[in-house]
Amino acid sequence: MGNAEPQSILPETARAADLLLWYDRMARPMPWRVAPKDRRAGVLPDPYRVWLSEVMLQQTTVAAVRRYFVDFTTRWPRVTDLAAAGDADVMAAWAGLGYYARARNLLKCARVVANDLNGVFPATEAALRELPGIGPYTAAAIAAIAFDRPAVVLDGNVERVMARLHAVTDPLPGSKETLRALAADLTPSDRPGDYAQGVMDLGATVCTPRSPACGICPWQSPCRARALGIAADLPRKTPKADKPTRYGIAWLALRPDGTVLVETRPERGLLGGMLGLPGTSWTDTPPADPTPPFAAAWHDAGFEVRHTFTHFHLRLRVRVTRVPGDAGHGYFPLPADTLRPRLPTVMRKAFDAGMAALAG
Ligand code: SF4
Repeated sequence: MGNAEPQSILPETARAADLLLWYDRMARPMPWRVAPKDRRAGVLPDPYRVWLSEVMLQQTTVAAVRRYFVDFTTRWPRVTDLAAAGDADVMAAWAGLGYYARARNLLKCARVVANDLNGVFPATEAALRELPGIGPYTAAAIAAIAFDRPAVVLDGNVERVMARLHAVTDPLPGSKETLRALAADLTPSDRPGDYAQGVMDLGATVCTPRSPACGICPWQSPCRARALGIAADLPRKTPKADKPTRYGIAWLALRPDGTVLVETRPERGLLGGMLGLPGTSWTDTPPADPTPPFAAAWHDAGFEVRHTFTHFHLRLRVRVTRVPGDAGHGYFPLPADTLRPRLPTVMRKAFDAGMAALAG
């Protein structure tokens, strides 16, 4: 018997079908999601719910969003209901979710869909991107999840999975387009909506940032980073410049009837349109001796509130006072207990610090 030619062993290629089989078993239940078995039984996702969840999930975790999503869809079950809601009610319902420009755009978008598009969301990425607050990622996610279009949905989870699967060692953000091309190659025309959700779930639950559970991964055989033993090191990232620190002062005035004096922040700018305590602007150096919003016996609450925004850290000193019922012209009183949940997170921290100082 002659020597047989050695067979060339081609590296296995990742297949969308393997991921879909995994997703069929492991899909995480979410209040906005149509489970794969329901999808097969003909249940269609509601584009309004998909859109709302995707806007809420920008920069926020699934765990943080659940309660807000249920609250919003209970109060405003259709896009036309949300479009008809008052600005202040929607901003108050959003309080605590952060990135408040999203809430303003949410309302604008709901009104365009309700008033100009007969309450029907468009199905293509291009048309979705025309709507307020919908960028490339969100448009792709809605097109895929709500309309089962083969759009390439590239969030942080998908970037991580693609970087590992193909052992891309160039750092992000420079490697983003490479990862997008790899993700596009894998996106199937069969069940692209479930596939998009499957990759995101894989990144969130199995291919996690620090300790990927390769042993239970549907793509363990084709995964190059696993074979090379570098999975946990990917994706590499170009270090970010340190965030600057800004400083400010917030003033909390409590009236004898238990109300606190607040203002609505200007529409434009950070926390625009949200309720807030009166305060200085936020500057690169601590304000020296700023003029209070109105004359009263102000004193320092004794410590600094710290909060981190996308582009800077904030250190906010809180000054407090008790004032008579007619003080604070130009500000409006709200009962302390109903005010707190309506405040954005940084103002909630300042409120808690101020109330603790006044109680002490
Ligand atoms: Fe991620 Fe490991 Fe799966 Fe590769 S095998 S995709 S590193 S979980």
